[in-house]
Amino acid sequence: RAKRDGRDHILHFDAAMEEELHRRLSLVSRIAEAQSTNQFSLMYQPQLRLSDGAVIGVEALLRWRRPDGSWVRPDTFIPVAEDAGHIVWLGEWVLREACRALARWHAQGFKGLRMAVNVSVRQLRDDNFLPMAERVLQDHGVAPTDVELEITESNAMEDDHILSVVQILRKQGFSIAIDDFGTGYSSLSRLQRLPASVLKIDRAFVMDIDSRPENRSIAAMIVKVGHELGMSVLAEGVENPQQEKVLRDLSCDSGQGYLYAKPLPPEALEVWLRGRMIADRSRDG
Ligand code: C2E
Ligand code: MG
Ligand code: MG
Ligand code: MG
Repeated sequence: RAKRDGRDHILHFDAAMEEELHRRLSLVSRIAEAQSTNQFSLMYQPQLRLSDGAVIGVEALLRWRRPDGSWVRPDTFIPVAEDAGHIVWLGEWVLREACRALARWHAQGFKGLRMAVNVSVRQLRDDNFLPMAERVLQDHGVAPTDVELEITESNAMEDDHILSVVQILRKQGFSIAIDDFGTGYSSLSRLQRLPASVLKIDRAFVMDIDSRPENRSIAAMIVKVGHELGMSVLAEGVENPQQEKVLRDLSCDSGQGYLYAKPLPPEALEVWLRGRMIADRSRDG
């Protein structure tokens, strides 16, 4: 009986692996089809300055909605798109769509609003990335200084080629943010070499920041290191006022999270921004 259970367990494991492989393969083929049938869209999440609550920008977040109305999570399909190389054209689409939205919001009077766009290291490895980014911004009349590229902290940042691409982007005026900071393997010497302007504290350290001293210490250290290196520090996943207060006490510069707004479709973001501007005006007198 024990033996049979054991064998069942092995069979089950193999089946699970095969299923996982199948899932990835079918995702790969469905990504291209999804693009041609407009299943991708962007949602936008505000980023606020903690000292006065001013809206400094929005982060574009990719969404995939299937024809049956179900959503495919970014954490599921983006790694697959990266492995298959699809992220190169999908990422170009994201940048274009985000720039189009930003140009519209600037024209509507939301001046000074900045757009943060997530970029995979796989995209930065592509020889066409720099000319592509320049062309896309030009097409929409967006200045590089209005765009922040969020790159997830990873070993690849040590790569000399990636470093030189990031340096060029900085010289062109793009702002560079290190996303999910604190979760990857990062040496302080490497951080010093990276021409980044923003460090984003990963949500994992913001969670329970008001109740777990360890998380508070880590966040405090990230803020210190960031400021020491001349970077601004943004906390992701701010969900309640208690967390916000701790972050403010730690001199963290900005925040993003459900406390302010969930990622919103463009029309809903416009409504949110408008409400926010009216609130700012009445508060400022
Ligand atoms: P990220 O860039 O670190 O984005 C933050 C994630 O946290 C988003 O998940 C956002 O919806 C979620 N979030 C924001 N505030 C809160 C909060 O207060 N509480 C909680 N629980 N979650 C919050 P999302 O949209 O599912 O994206 C997951 C990841 O997928 C992103 O992490 C990013 O790494 C990647 N991603 C999304 N869009 C793109 C894209 O266009 N290109 C690339 N390369 N990656 C993308
Ligand atoms: Mg991000
Ligand atoms: Mg993040
Ligand atoms: Mg992330």
